[in-house]
Amino acid sequence: MPCADIETGGEKMNPQAPAAVKQYVCSICGEASEYICIWCTKDACENHLCDKCKRCSDCCECDQQRGGTERQ
Ligand SMILES: [Zn+2]
Ligand SMILES: [Zn+2]
Ligand SMILES: [Zn+2]
Repeated sequence: MPCADIETGGEKMNPQAPAAVKQYVCSICGEASEYICIWCTKDACENHLCDKCKRCSDCCECDQQRGGTERQ
């Protein structure tokens, strides 16, 4: 009878990362940030990351859509 013995009590190489907070640097202003633009995947701080579209200021198009602009 095959005994499924899973070896889990081996050597844990990575116990738990200390206080490894993902720290990025805003590509626009150079400040520390924890976010990245989902569009260009560049680092963007809170000030330069749109909360609506999660894009950086370079990619965000929310400002351009003020109210209703006529588009043909
Ligand atoms: Zn910034
Ligand atoms: Zn971007
Ligand atoms: Zn936006």
